[in-house]
Amino acid sequence: MPELRFNVLTQEWVIMATERAKRPMEFAQSIPIYNLPRYEPKCPFCPGNEWATSEELFRIDGEDGWQTRVVKNKYPALDEHAQPTVSGDFLQTSINGFGLHEVIIDTPRHDCTITMLSLEDVEKVVLTYRSRYRAVAEDPRVKHIIIFKNNGISAGSSIIHPHSQLIATPIVSNQIDGRTRVTRTYYEENHRCIMCDMLERELSQGQRIVYENEHFACFLPYAALSSFHTWIFPKRHAPVFGDVRDNEIPALAEILAYVLRAQEKLLGRPDYNFVFRSAPVGCDHHLYHWYISIVPRLSKTAGFEIGSNIYINPSLPELNAMELRNVVDVLRGHV
Ligand SMILES: [Zn+2]
Ligand SMILES: [Zn+2]
Repeated sequence: MPELRFNVLTQEWVIMATERAKRPMEFAQSIPIYNLPRYEPKCPFCPGNEWATSEELFRIDGEDGWQTRVVKNKYPALDEHAQPTVSGDFLQTSINGFGLHEVIIDTPRHDCTITMLSLEDVEKVVLTYRSRYRAVAEDPRVKHIIIFKNNGISAGSSIIHPHSQLIATPIVSNQIDGRTRVTRTYYEENHRCIMCDMLERELSQGQRIVYENEHFACFLPYAALSSFHTWIFPKRHAPVFGDVRDNEIPALAEILAYVLRAQEKLLGRPDYNFVFRSAPVGCDHHLYHWYISIVPRLSKTAGFEIGSNIYINPSLPELNAMELRNVVDVLRGHV
């Protein structure tokens, strides 16, 4: 019998269509033949072609040149020079298009995805994210910062060279606004962070846990919106990703790397997105708990989802979690 589950944080209903449950093999995508060169002369993100990118904002040096590099997006979705002033009226409101749009080049290697990087190099990627988050949060025009990766064509990526992005906006999206309303109401009633409580529940039940280390836990949400929709939560309450501490960075790199590697091994290099979700800049400390959402692009959103905002998940999160957990164990050499 199908079951409807409610995702309390996102306030979305999900139909767990268990009789349609699919095994990972059925999701497995045909692995594209990766025959990429280590260096591609025409690629703007390859070392030696730095002239082809916009202004550099940050870099971490590597053994031979740079290891990570951050540049302004050459084709930004928003304009960094605009002053965010509101105009119009209730029926037609607009703000001129201020925003920051940065590209984070994960590695100098053209042929090396984040799943192929050493844990030390993933740490450098995460440190680069944090450095940019903190720098951008200083801009008084910025209200919200999203760091994300689009991996693969169906996840929206247009450049092969491994990279991530940061977009800062002068507004808080309806989605984050809705979530902070949920967290505020819960806090007022319970004097606790709803996400700390969700994490505590997941850790005590264990069945949706994929992996945990000293500072982070990875699990599939109780009402996961889609197959292998995965969350990584910091164990220490903190509202924004920029709060992550130096001593937590290795644990963050480790959990992110193993979860992405496990997903790739189990599902055959699916296209995917991950998003670092944070509170609005300057939000009350207790109101939000930053986390990472990982969404492999295994199925397309269809008319029912668009029409209802109710999702159909063809596989149980408990089952998906067990499968990912087993692969993480194998990858970490624990089996
Ligand atoms: Zn390249
Ligand atoms: Zn919390």
